[in-house]
Formats: sequence, C-alpha cells, structure tokens
Amino acid sequence: MNLYNSIIERVSALCGRTAPKRWDYDPALAWPDAGAFELVMQRDQALELGGGGKPSVNFTCVTTDPRLVDRDEILVYGPDLRELKADTPFLRISLLRVGDIESDDEDDTEQAFRAIQELDFVKYRVFPKGYMIRTSSDSDREQVRVSKAALRGGISFAKVGAAFIKAYRKNPNVLAARVIFVTDPGADFAAARKCAKDVKDITLSLSQILKGMPTDCGSCNLKPICDEVEGMKELHFGRK
Ligand code: SF4
Repeated sequence: MNLYNSIIERVSALCGRTAPKRWDYDPALAWPDAGAFELVMQRDQALELGGGGKPSVNFTCVTTDPRLVDRDEILVYGPDLRELKADTPFLRISLLRVGDIESDDEDDTEQAFRAIQELDFVKYRVFPKGYMIRTSSDSDREQVRVSKAALRGGISFAKVGAAFIKAYRKNPNVLAARVIFVTDPGADFAAARKCAKDVKDITLSLSQILKGMPTDCGSCNLKPICDEVEGMKELHFGRK
C-alpha cells in the first residue's frame, strides 16, 4: 500500500521549524480512557486546542513501507499541554504501517479499503479522560478541550499519544504507529489542510474504483488524482 506515501513524505516539513520531542510507545504510559464520550464543560476547561477559530487539522495515512514508519512513537512539535498558556492551533497526524492489506484479488482490494476506513475510525473510539475530542471527517478538523483536572493529573501529549497507539495496535493489521501532535504556531497549516484533502481524495477514489468504473482515463473524473498518486492506476487496472 503506497498510495499515501507521497503525503507521508511531506509531513515532517509542515510540522514546524523546531525539532520534535520524541517518545517511544509504552502501553503503560497511556492516559486512562473514559470508555465513552465525556463532556468537559467550559467552566472545567484549562485550554482548547484548535478551537476559537484557531487552525486545526487531522488526518491519518497508512503505508506498508517500514522506512516511512519504522516504530511506535509519539512526536510533539511545539509546547506540550502543561507548557501551553493559552488556546492554540493544533494538528494531529497518525501515520500507520500496516501489513500487506492489498493484493490484485478483488475481495482483498475491498478488504484493504475497509481496513483503511477502520483505522481512520479509531479516532472516534479514543476517549482520553479530561481530553474531549471533537472531530469532523467533513472538515478534517480536530478540536480538543483539556480539563483543569487532567492537567493537574499530569496529562501530556506523550500519554494521549500512547492511548491512541494502544487503540491502533488492537488492530492486527497495524505493525507500527507514529502519532504526531503539533502546537507550534509556525507549522504550515495550509499544507496540512492540503494533505488532509489529498488523503480524502485518494480514499474516495479508492472507494469509487471498488464500486466499478470504466477504464478510460481520458474521460474519467478521477484522472487528476490518479495522475498525481503513484499506484492508483495500477490498482484500478490490476483489478481489471
Ligand atoms: S486509473 Fe484511469 S480510469 Fe481508473 S480511476 Fe484512475 S483515471 Fe479513472
């Protein structure tokens, strides 16, 4: 699965000008999960990430290339939760290395598409305590309200990232996960939005190909995407 590789290669350049802080994944580090959506009232809020009109972007990419995602880790560009003094722009990106979820077999290709969707949906099933996530697949935004109690209890991006990786690693297709948090105001949010749009376009194209399409690229409305994304044409014609 190399459809998203060119996007993954653009990620580190858009995350900001400073070197990231890095943690290896340790399941014991994972921040406790509330088990279901938990409201953080405004009066209990310490700060908001990506709220109040601040930029906010979220996307997930999968790859089978171990050079692009070599281990389970958490990267943080910019101040961590306890260092933030005010609401901030926010970017969270998940890069996942998966096993061979794709082949020329039609059923397997469909299975690959379902696997990609399933991994994207993990974000709707992670509920860190005192860390209320509001995410929208339509706008590619992810806003977070962090409670005062969670900050007092020692929440950090390393712990929230470990909670995400723990959820991703429940899926047997996932071999490694890198979760990236960005609060650096110097990050390129326009480039991040473009990456999020490209991810969505590729996944949508994959879904349309799976539904069955003609194979005349000259008259196909997906041509601009297929021209840009390595592996898309092979995937379509491989199915034929
Ligand atoms: S490979 Fe050609 S026909 Fe198939 S989706 Fe892409 S542009 Fe359309």
